[in-house]
Amino acid sequence: MKNILDYNGTTKQILSLIYTRQQITRKTLSKITGFSGLTIARIITSLIKDGVVIETDAASADKGRKPLLLEINPGYGYIIGVDIGTYSTKIGVVDFSGRLVEKEIHVFVFRESPSTIMNFDLLQVHIDALIKKYGVNRVLGIGMGITGLVDYYSQTIVFCPNIRGYNNLEASRLLQKRFGIPAVVDTSARCMALAEKYFGKSEVTEDLSFVSFGHSIAVGTIIGNTIFRGSNGFAGELGHVKTVLRDDRICTCGSYNCIEVYITLPEMRMALINRLKEFRGYSQLKEKYELTGEISYEDIASAVQGGDKVAVEGMGETIQMLGTVLADYINLFNPSEIVLGGGFFDLYPFVMPDLEKELQKQCLTPSLQNIRLRISELSMDGAIIGSAMQLVHRYFVESN
Ligand SMILES: [Zn+2]
Repeated sequence: MKNILDYNGTTKQILSLIYTRQQITRKTLSKITGFSGLTIARIITSLIKDGVVIETDAASADKGRKPLLLEINPGYGYIIGVDIGTYSTKIGVVDFSGRLVEKEIHVFVFRESPSTIMNFDLLQVHIDALIKKYGVNRVLGIGMGITGLVDYYSQTIVFCPNIRGYNNLEASRLLQKRFGIPAVVDTSARCMALAEKYFGKSEVTEDLSFVSFGHSIAVGTIIGNTIFRGSNGFAGELGHVKTVLRDDRICTCGSYNCIEVYITLPEMRMALINRLKEFRGYSQLKEKYELTGEISYEDIASAVQGGDKVAVEGMGETIQMLGTVLADYINLFNPSEIVLGGGFFDLYPFVMPDLEKELQKQCLTPSLQNIRLRISELSMDGAIIGSAMQLVHRYFVESN
């Protein structure tokens, strides 16, 4: 099997177009590239022979001969996708067309920040097992996403305020050295944005922003087919925008008054417990807390939906602050599509109408018009798919 990294020049340009358009005819390829039908035919024949591209019937209802559509062959090979979050490590196998074939999700008990999760050595043991299972010659590479600051250009995980053991780690170099296949690392939010853009329910828009909200807050932005990373690759740290609250609470990043100090999942639960302690009336959630000494995120969900006064007020406060940070983003960038994901939206998708109302209050009205706002349907799978497909994207789109 030929490694995709061995293709270059015209052939690579054609492959890149088939990947970004997902389905394309020979005629369109010829029109975009300016190459003759004969040249396109010659390249496509060799790509089909190599097994990297397949030809399928168009689903057109037109009479007569239907044009054949070219697609990336899903069975060409596999990519390992890894996502390192604050309380879970997700590892999966994705086929060449971005379909998740297998996943394992390791959840860790979150006690304090930075949290202790699967370390890099153990992670490699899991990757090794998957590579052996799917065949050393069938796995094309490894893509990794992590919640933290990643210097994409030097492929180094620089600083993870919420995760222990991954700071200053040259992840790609170490993975490449150990497994002998290409590897790439980026932030989780960007990986999830990539998954939404190409493999989710995205309508074709000029730009897409993925806002991840759970144990931290981050945003991944794609403009056209380009992932926006900032000058050193540190763009998108939405959790560390400052609140106007001035009680000087120290953030895990070392600075003060970051929004993340107030509204992550653990912070929301802590604030709610404090409300319950002070509340003097009847609350089912309070009763549960007094009886068991704890409340789970699921308890909060059912209390809010059941109309528990304290829970509704606590959630209202979170929505208000989340609305503020999203309004800041919307007012600054006037994005066309925002996809919301992460632990918070997996647990509490029912807050959307309230969040939308909050945005109407806090955004400049024209900025909010025509914006497509939705919750991710890929959910946790998006992190694995996006991490894996970073590798394909890096090669097909970013190295042209
Ligand atoms: Zn911070």
